[in-house]
Amino acid sequence: MFDVVAKGFRDVRMRFEGKRELTEENIDEALKDIRRSMLEADVNFRIAKDFIGRVKDKALGEVVKVKAKGSQGKMEVSPGDHFVKICHDELEALMGPVDSSIVFANPRVGPTKIMMVGLQGSGKTTTTGKLAKLLMDQHGKKPLLVGADVYRPAAIEQLRVLGEQLGVPVHAVEGGDPVKVCNDAVALAKEKDRDVILFDTAGRLAVDDVLMNELEQIVSTTTPENIFLVADAMIGQDAVNTAKEFNSRLEIDGFIMTKLDGDARGGAALSIKEVTGKPIKFIGVGEKLDDLEEFRPEGLANRILGFGDVMGLMNKFERSLSEEDAQRAEKDAMRMLSGEFDFNDFYNQLEQISKLGSMNELMEMMPFFGGGMPADANIDDSELSKIRAIIQSMTTREKKDPDLLTRQPGRVRRIAKGSGSDKEKVEQVIQQFNMMRGMMQQFSSMGGGGLLGKIPG
Ligand code: GDP
Repeated sequence: MFDVVAKGFRDVRMRFEGKRELTEENIDEALKDIRRSMLEADVNFRIAKDFIGRVKDKALGEVVKVKAKGSQGKMEVSPGDHFVKICHDELEALMGPVDSSIVFANPRVGPTKIMMVGLQGSGKTTTTGKLAKLLMDQHGKKPLLVGADVYRPAAIEQLRVLGEQLGVPVHAVEGGDPVKVCNDAVALAKEKDRDVILFDTAGRLAVDDVLMNELEQIVSTTTPENIFLVADAMIGQDAVNTAKEFNSRLEIDGFIMTKLDGDARGGAALSIKEVTGKPIKFIGVGEKLDDLEEFRPEGLANRILGFGDVMGLMNKFERSLSEEDAQRAEKDAMRMLSGEFDFNDFYNQLEQISKLGSMNELMEMMPFFGGGMPADANIDDSELSKIRAIIQSMTTREKKDPDLLTRQPGRVRRIAKGSGSDKEKVEQVIQQFNMMRGMMQQFSSMGGGGLLGKIPG
């Protein structure tokens, strides 16, 4: 995700490598690269222009400051880091601040109403299910799902399936009057002891007047506390234009941007807040009910700049673990972060990672692999079982003290034979092990993940 923009920023970091100071000239060159990559990523033209202007002003301001201080004013950090830090702050400001708030009604007055709107195919129904799950898991709420897309039986059926999976009731009337369906749901929620209602409204392929009138009527009769527009990141600027149109008619509260796990170029996520003045509240990162995350502009800015997203990775880990796993993982993490790391840990980590999904995506989230995945680190199930066989062929001492293998190559040959592998493969696994151990040690020396410690604050 965001490959195009991220590459632009990475090129800029390289451009500054070895440079001793920021100058108007090298700033301009770097900004040219950034501008190109932003436009390629489908960022709104005006927004790219303003962004560049702000970064330029700040960067030139730094040049002036350093010059004013004369030789004493030599920058303590490299010009590249300095420049990237400015970009980081501006990216974060462009998409921020964090606002995942949901307005809850006073329970004495009635249930909280959340209206989901958006184009057909944007992921509205799926996201309604995901949001219901988040409300149950994180807020202890009891949702009622409402199928207000009465024109498409398939949409209602999809919502019913989601309701079943979640164990929550669904109110829908095929071919009924959507405004009535929503209003009836409010009374029904009281009856069924439900404290949040999610309206999955109708979508169209494009914004049209009939739909808007219908949505306006639902708003004026049910007065929802929250109106969220579901926007598909894959359609780039079209998502931003749609958002503008919806917002001018409905006064939406924020966006849920979907399909950020795909190869969306990122332009919509970077532009939508600035164009509409409304925040991205949550992001969809997959098709499963758990794949909804609070939007954190800082995390995204980090990923775009190639620093990885440690918080995002931790959240992903947490969601994939059972309670027991989580406790063990936490204990393991503490031990590993104190600098201890052996082959048993290595195998457990690989197994955990392979459960999480795409290796490439995970690597992108890790600060030390900002440039993507090292070529030889691809791990699929068959690779995992080869590695397992190799580790099982090690003695307890070898697992605990991996440096033995480097000191005594005969051991490597024995392990290769025992595991039905060749010597090169065993050496490769040892190398991967050393790489991961190095990473753990780097983490531990940074105090357990202060990835921005490198950048001046
Ligand atoms: P609706 O017409 O707006 O209600 O859209 P749906 O909820 O039916 O979603 C359309 C398609 O997008 C479905 O195949 C969903 O599984 C998929 N989808 C929704 N959200 C996401 C997401 O965050 N990531 C991915 N990869 N797919 C998504």
